Amino acid sequence: MGRSVLVTGGNRGIGLAIARSFAQAGDDVTITYRSGEPPEGLAGVRCDVTDSESVDAAFTEVEAAQGPVEVLVANAGITRDTLLLRMSEADFTDVLDTNLTGAFRVAKRASRGMLRARKGRVVFISSVVGLLGSPGQLNYAASKAGLIGLARSMARELGSRNITANVVAPGFVESDMTAELTDERRKEILDGIPLGRYASADEVARVVRWVASDDATYVTGAVIPVDGGLGMGH
Ligand code: NDP
Repeated sequence: MGRSVLVTGGNRGIGLAIARSFAQAGDDVTITYRSGEPPEGLAGVRCDVTDSESVDAAFTEVEAAQGPVEVLVANAGITRDTLLLRMSEADFTDVLDTNLTGAFRVAKRASRGMLRARKGRVVFISSVVGLLGSPGQLNYAASKAGLIGLARSMARELGSRNITANVVAPGFVESDMTAELTDERRKEILDGIPLGRYASADEVARVVRWVASDDATYVTGAVIPVDGGLGMGH
């Protein structure tokens, strides 16, 4: 029988690739979405990670449909890029609220069932930018760095209950988020990537699936880069 997997922001982009990868491996997968319809072939629940009531309702729905969440992938994320002097407080707090506090909300809600089951896998989708820093992305980088402290604390707090918490830190991935970059910025980035290309969402998904699998039972509190070498040493 497949495990009960929940992927936040799994209606498109990297989250969708992650969700499809678990589903192909035989797991029961639900994705969260905010509007429209869930992608074909996947179960979906409406959820806004900035709202704890919405998170709670989504988990209750998932639990009824496929049992308590055994694998949580906290993937939902946004950017509000601009330089420091132009960055409003709302630009900063909105990004933190979605990317970091949103991950806290879902991890906290998932941990209930995981503690009861005495097993669980939590994977946070961070970014190479969280450790490298990035001009114009103070808010985003801070949120992604914050996920590391969150995951490592969770790994320490819940490890004795057979719950692992890990971070996957992608570099640049072909997606809606990176499609917004200017050609000039794109070239600058490619020049710094030893593999000389962006990742596909599938290349990220495979690593997420691995760290949530029985091949990674002794991996917790890890930050796993999937960045073509961009962040080496960080
Ligand atoms: P996309 O912009 O393509 O997708 C973002 C996803 O997050 C969407 O499903 C979106 O839902 C969801 N989301 C945003 N805000 C909320 C919210 N408040 N509540 C629930 N869901 C929300 O991004 P990517 O697929 O590129 O990125 C996925 C993750 O990977 C993000 O955390 C991102 O930071 C990270 N990442 C991406 C990289 C890249 O190069 N693309 C590199 C490194 C990390 P909706 O469709 O409703 O907007």
